[in-house]
Amino acid sequence: MGTNVLKTETPTSIDDAVYFLKENFNEGDHRPSISFGFGDPSCFECFRTTPIAEDAIVEAVRSAKFNSYAPTGGILPARRAVADYLSRDLPYRLSPDDVYLTLGCNQAAEITIKVLARPGANILLPRPGYPDIETYAIFNKLEIRQFDLLPERGWEVDLDTIEAMSDENTVAMVIINPGNPSGSVYTYNHLNKIAETARKLGIIVIADEVYGHLVYGSNPFVPMSLFATIVPVITLGSVSKRWMIPGWGLGWLVTCDPTGLLRKDEIAESINKLLVYSPFPPTLIQGAIPQILEKTTQDFFSKTINILRKNLDICYDKLKGIPCIMIPQKPEGAFFAMVKLNLLLLEDIEDDMEFCLKLAKEESLIILPGDREARNIYFQSVTSARVTVGLKNWLRLTFAVEYSSLEDGLGRLKSFCQRHAKKYTLTGSPAVDQQIHVEH
Ligand SMILES: *Cc1c(COP(=O)(O)O)cnc(C)c1O
Repeated sequence: MGTNVLKTETPTSIDDAVYFLKENFNEGDHRPSISFGFGDPSCFECFRTTPIAEDAIVEAVRSAKFNSYAPTGGILPARRAVADYLSRDLPYRLSPDDVYLTLGCNQAAEITIKVLARPGANILLPRPGYPDIETYAIFNKLEIRQFDLLPERGWEVDLDTIEAMSDENTVAMVIINPGNPSGSVYTYNHLNKIAETARKLGIIVIADEVYGHLVYGSNPFVPMSLFATIVPVITLGSVSKRWMIPGWGLGWLVTCDPTGLLRKDEIAESINKLLVYSPFPPTLIQGAIPQILEKTTQDFFSKTINILRKNLDICYDKLKGIPCIMIPQKPEGAFFAMVKLNLLLLEDIEDDMEFCLKLAKEESLIILPGDREARNIYFQSVTSARVTVGLKNWLRLTFAVEYSSLEDGLGRLKSFCQRHAKKYTLTGSPAVDQQIHVEH
């Protein structure tokens, strides 16, 4: 006591949650620890990026053309390359003026939130969701209203509730497609309905498409910008996930509005004002971007998709074989599966956090708890902030790890669940009877 050091007993972000769980590793366990906590496959050899990207960087260095400060929003060839890359999937062409280069997709999200924030305004965010976007909203005093994603309907947006929760101060709704943490890939029809709903409410759609094209099922990736003639769309993306290079820090914010529904000049002015005072992606990386986006071959994408699809299949099969874990929907994209704990089948575990803590301790395995109420330490104005992905007694785990870790980790998860399973009684297992009635 008596010091000013901020110390939380409860984690306040995905990083904090994973760190907190790691502190509970048992040092006596000599097996290597395994983490399904973060989605960052770039550290595994099998997910190494394409030589095209590596060569592009080397070339950019050797050219000595990219040693200067970059103009706000990025150098023109890089902006044009992003516009062209995204336009491949569209019936209209984006212009380099629509593109702002950012330090990863996260900065693109942060800038978007800042542009939209004004006193009294609110934004509609998905639950389960991506906590960083929530944090940016909290920091910028933009009120958060959460709409549900429906696990039994492939994690589609609960559009019926959107109308009731929005009002004249609602500025936008956010979708993440392919979904983190849900693993969903939205159909053309569903995206069309989202666009129609947003149009009716007079709000724009912010589409976090950082996992664009990382799909493994029957639904193809459809960009939200395809519906930008119905409603203005701000697309957020980066090379972090599809190219497996999150450390390179190159993302984009793109205003998609082919019919001119937005006041583009005003938006450009406020984005530029914010970007002038923000760190920008290194000019060197910007210099390499045209080569990376234009020259990466289908071989590289197919290879990573095949590995991820094989991982997903194993992950799904093994999870289905664990009674206390319910997986409502096989993931179809991105890096994650969301699963629900059936606590009735577990003996000495009260909630998702306790499950993850004991799992770390007993199996040296990290899985992200779905929810945790953070104490209000950082934000005086907020009574409590939901952290991690916002679903109590659910878990998020990534399958974007190397195969041997995946198998090993899923084996540990299974034996952990067996060890903590409720024992049968003489009258049979009441827990199993009740399992049929688990609600979401
Ligand atoms: C990883 C991720 C980001 C951040 O992407 P960066 O390019 O690394 O900043 C943004 N949104 C979602 C949903 C993510 O999963």
